[in-house]
Amino acid sequence: MAWSAARYSGGDCPVDGAVGVKLPHIHTSRCTGCGWCVAACPPGVLSLQVVAWRKHAVLHDEQGCTGCSQCERRCPFGVITMVKTEKPDGRQA
Ligand code: SF4
Ligand code: SF4
Repeated sequence: MAWSAARYSGGDCPVDGAVGVKLPHIHTSRCTGCGWCVAACPPGVLSLQVVAWRKHAVLHDEQGCTGCSQCERRCPFGVITMVKTEKPDGRQA
């Protein structure tokens, strides 16, 4: 997916072309693997994976994430935090 204004999350003014984005950080040690966030994600870029006998949510496609925060809002356990990430040119958002 090409970088676009659809990924703008309010970090910078989009008018001058500076685009910031937030991505979900999943605190896997507290994730129950319930899957609510996976079901809530519109583009389907979250999935459940089993690591060391524990099932937890994983963002498997960062480029496909729109930064909509629906996963953060849907998680009943407050496991997901939206965090600013680097811009395409490498500067901090
Ligand atoms: S921020 Fe939106 S698009 Fe990104 S993983 Fe969460 S629900 Fe999916
Ligand atoms: S909704 Fe929360 S607890 Fe459930 S799988 Fe997603 S991150 Fe884990």
